[in-house]
Amino acid sequence: MSSLKSQPSPSDSYSTSPVYQMACEQLRSVASLLDTDPGIVERLIIPKRSLMVSVPIRMDTGEVHSFVGYRVQHSLTSGPSKGGLRYAPSVDLGEVAALSMWMSWKVGIMNLPFSGAKGGIACDPAKLSRGELERLTRRYTEEVLAIIGPRVDVMAPDMGTDEQTMAWIMDTYSMKVGYACPEIVTGKPVELGGCIGRREATGRGVVYCIEQAMEELELKPAEVTAVIQGYGNVGSVTASELSSRGIRVIAIGDRYGAIHNKAGIDIPALNRYVLTTDRKTIVGFPLADAMPVEQLLITPCDILIPAALERVLTAENAPKVQCKILAEGANGPTTPEADRILHDKGVFIIPDILCNAGGVTVSYFEWVQDLQQYFWDEAQVNDKLRGLMLKSFRAVRQRAISRKLPMRLAALSLGVEKVANEKQKRGLFP
Ligand code: NAD
Repeated sequence: MSSLKSQPSPSDSYSTSPVYQMACEQLRSVASLLDTDPGIVERLIIPKRSLMVSVPIRMDTGEVHSFVGYRVQHSLTSGPSKGGLRYAPSVDLGEVAALSMWMSWKVGIMNLPFSGAKGGIACDPAKLSRGELERLTRRYTEEVLAIIGPRVDVMAPDMGTDEQTMAWIMDTYSMKVGYACPEIVTGKPVELGGCIGRREATGRGVVYCIEQAMEELELKPAEVTAVIQGYGNVGSVTASELSSRGIRVIAIGDRYGAIHNKAGIDIPALNRYVLTTDRKTIVGFPLADAMPVEQLLITPCDILIPAALERVLTAENAPKVQCKILAEGANGPTTPEADRILHDKGVFIIPDILCNAGGVTVSYFEWVQDLQQYFWDEAQVNDKLRGLMLKSFRAVRQRAISRKLPMRLAALSLGVEKVANEKQKRGLFP
């Protein structure tokens, strides 16, 4: 086995970030397991290209405010880089770099012809008006124009961004190049070349994985309870899909608070309620009781689904977590210490890079349809999504069993191995 001790640390601008350190720690443990060439590991640790930009916009008050935006392309080895755009106060270079690395492994596990990327703007979208969000998105697109393109880097929605954000990017890019270019983004409105079922894809994929784990653990839907952190795109679709299968969702939290109902929260009624609130929150839902947010992740349940932020399961709360299945809808919700604790407790962990890969998979379908200008129906999309998710779930499970690896390491090893092999075969330019 080659020594990885000689690996240099990545540059300081990334390495101070705990999320980036976590992504590097995962990569190093997998690389040592696979005995990956140290030169390749070094190339995988330092992102291929990072751009940090100032995004000045005129606020509704008339004042000018400059936000900081990022786009990191972890690799361009396996095809155009692909990854979400995140609007959140916590966004920084390290977080975006870590997320871009996870995207590389994710598209690797799913066998998609992409590499990993991620972008973001440090802002609180809930405090910005629609006009401010539009100006922010358009100016950001202009600032990163030099490094994006349908064959170079394709964005998609992530935390704090949605179909409308993608429509503004598509319009800004199209105005710049002089023709309608839907293939520059995925997750856009269907009327603009978006894919039917893209909005629901991540949550659906999460539930396909949960079904596989339940089958293995011989758990019946009617006897199973679930707890979800986050009620945005991923959390709300996951809740709807679980409840339509007869699984009781007994507690849900979002950035404003948490609610619970032992008998199972009425998800269709909750969805109607959320739409009536200004902040699009679950808080105040009359058919459930309020609960302290710090209790949410340690509520006894069969399936725990973090679907909001990274690093929410830690060495402090992991010993108190009581679930049989951990389905990581969010990216990076579990710290390495918490991961070890939960693994030792025997929790069936469905790691993020597998569990939430439904989104990028249907983004791939969208990109293919836009390039061909030939569109599929929803049944085709869902059928192909389910097929690819199950294939990858089984490949990860098979590797975990045959090599006696935890699921996370098995998933990472498949993703890292694919990218490392491609780098090895392409060689080093010049
Ligand atoms: P979203 O913006 O639609 O929703 C985020 C949810 O998290 C909201 O309900 C928000 O209130 C909640 N939240 C924010 N801060 C919180 C806190 N401190 N405590 C509890 N809840 C909090 O975002 P999304 O698209 O659903 O993404 C959620 C996660 O899933 C992110 O980690 C994202 O990277 C990941 N993900 C999303 C997709 C996708 O297709 N949207 C795909 C793969 C992975």
